[in-house]
Amino acid sequence: MAKPPKTAAKPASKPRKKAPAKKRLKPAEQARIAEIFARFEAQESDPRTELDYASPFTLVVAVALSAQATDVSVNKATARLFEVADTPQKMLALGEAGLKPFISSIGLFNMKAKNVIALSRILIEQYGGEVPLERDKLQALPGIGRKTASVVLNELRIEPAIAVDTHVFRVSHRLELSRGKTPDAVEADLMAIVPDPLKTRAHHWLILHGRYTCVARRPRCEDCVVGDLCPSRRLFVRD
Ligand code: SF4
Repeated sequence: MAKPPKTAAKPASKPRKKAPAKKRLKPAEQARIAEIFARFEAQESDPRTELDYASPFTLVVAVALSAQATDVSVNKATARLFEVADTPQKMLALGEAGLKPFISSIGLFNMKAKNVIALSRILIEQYGGEVPLERDKLQALPGIGRKTASVVLNELRIEPAIAVDTHVFRVSHRLELSRGKTPDAVEADLMAIVPDPLKTRAHHWLILHGRYTCVARRPRCEDCVVGDLCPSRRLFVRD
């Protein structure tokens, strides 16, 4: 019996990236949120990370080092480090023992040194010394989690992402942009409500606002550009 002709294998369909679900907001709430981000934009139209970097590799290293550390402390360390090791090849040549003295003032430096050397080796062996600017490949690198990958991809304007750190979490709650109990839940809320053209910059605006104005202990509500739009202001200021 003649065999049925072979049919060409169906190419595996690329999994579709799920777009964040749009939240149904009342028009007044939509207008409030739009106004909040319009004011942030008026204040700083092109916000950037405060980490110093000169290439995707130095950005990845700086962001990886910044976990549970301040940008100022990371910049202090990388100013000297990147003079001697600003490529995966130079970093690998420096080695874990050579790297540690440069970053010993930063928290978790033993683990971070191990990860930076391991990721440098992978970049050389698998990616020709270049940083793969795709989320799944980035997240597969040692020490690079979802948040770090989001910061890198967002900073390089490759993929809009709103990584939620302690500042973004606090500000989002105070401004009632989210009631999410976890960073992932807050991120999902923000991705659903921040207008698309502003998503890439929203991460920075919220961080900067939390770092300099809506600080943890005594927020500077008197100087806040969105004070009249903030439901939490009354908790801190008596008019
Ligand atoms: S008014 Fe106060 S609590 Fe509200 S966002 Fe501004 S600084 Fe934060």
